[in-house]
Amino acid sequence: MITPHLMRAFARVDLEAERGEGAWLFDAQGRRYLDFLGGVAVNALGHCHPALVEALTRQARTLWHASNLVRVPGQERLADRLCAASFADQAFFTNSGSEAVDFALKLVRRRAKATVAPQRWRTITFEGGFHGRSMAAIAAGGQIKLTQGFTPVVTGFDCVPFADLEAVRRAIGPETAAILIEPVQGDGGIRVAPFDFMRALRSLCDEHDLLLVLDEVQTGIGRTGRLFAYEWSGVKPDIVACAKGLGAGFPLGAVLTTQAIGGLITPGAHGSTLGGAPLAAAVGNALLDVILADGFLEGVRNAADALEEGLRRVVARHPGVFTEVRGIGLMLGLRCAPSNAEVITALRARGMLVGPGGDNVVRLLPALTTGAEEIAAALNALEAACRDLEGTTAARTSA
Ligand code: PMP
Repeated sequence: MITPHLMRAFARVDLEAERGEGAWLFDAQGRRYLDFLGGVAVNALGHCHPALVEALTRQARTLWHASNLVRVPGQERLADRLCAASFADQAFFTNSGSEAVDFALKLVRRRAKATVAPQRWRTITFEGGFHGRSMAAIAAGGQIKLTQGFTPVVTGFDCVPFADLEAVRRAIGPETAAILIEPVQGDGGIRVAPFDFMRALRSLCDEHDLLLVLDEVQTGIGRTGRLFAYEWSGVKPDIVACAKGLGAGFPLGAVLTTQAIGGLITPGAHGSTLGGAPLAAAVGNALLDVILADGFLEGVRNAADALEEGLRRVVARHPGVFTEVRGIGLMLGLRCAPSNAEVITALRARGMLVGPGGDNVVRLLPALTTGAEEIAAALNALEAACRDLEGTTAARTSA
């Protein structure tokens, strides 16, 4: 029984997470699960990766927190490395994805007021989008369920159908300052924005002097087989929000941007007590040591290709359970024929954890260290769960 002293914010399943080791999560009863939920795209290196454990414990013995009123060397190093590896010139560190998106939206207004036109303050967003749970982030999200019961919502967002270029064009008005998009919608059901659509958004932004803001909270830090998903389309964003994988399970997010935009933030304009604190920065740097090592992301792309190929075979064999595979890298979705909740339960019974997504999808977000062994285990569990579900359907039909 879950304690009544926790708010019922989450639809938790009755699995007491106790211990993790690589791709495996163990419950309090000692059962082990192949973790393809990955803490919802957070555990970039699986559970308790030795390099991260070492970095965190070493830092824990040295300095936890000193405030952002002093120099934090690990934070400076992390900023340098993220900028060197991306389009960005400057970083600001946060504790979560919502906080990063929220600040990205503040930067849009700051830039409009300071350099373009003060009346520009609106942002175009997309149906099915998810940007977090802060007041601004729920307003930016393209799902009514996020704002229900929390009105009045923060205004200034114009939501259009996902990947609909004409709708974006129509939505641009004299007050528009930016376009905010997830290169691959996660919560919305692993919907990939076509690369030519991303390039068209960049052109529209250039034409109308708008900022292209990417929510890479889920897609960033290697998840799609590139450090950032924008690399697939080749567009250069103006602002990127990331989190999740950056701390690999330790709270850490970042907003990355250009000097022209980041330079508008002066002391007092924004802040965060804990963002980029020594512990978080130590983990972020240790994570980058692994992710940026020669060949690592290529390995992710190879593993992703092998997994996707296996998933296509599962889908072809079980059309009554799965109807489609989609996604990029290790951010994959299986569209379900029965409800995704049923599929998730069946997979858990077969010892595999996956996550729900919009459009009746189950999300596969395994560690970026996934290899042949984990892929084989995943495909076996999927096959077994499909047979279980088909048995259930057959029993239902004959009853
Ligand atoms: N943006 C995206 C794309 C996300 O997937 C999430 C989390 N699922 C968020 C923002 C919010 O991140 P957090 O829960 O860390 O605030």
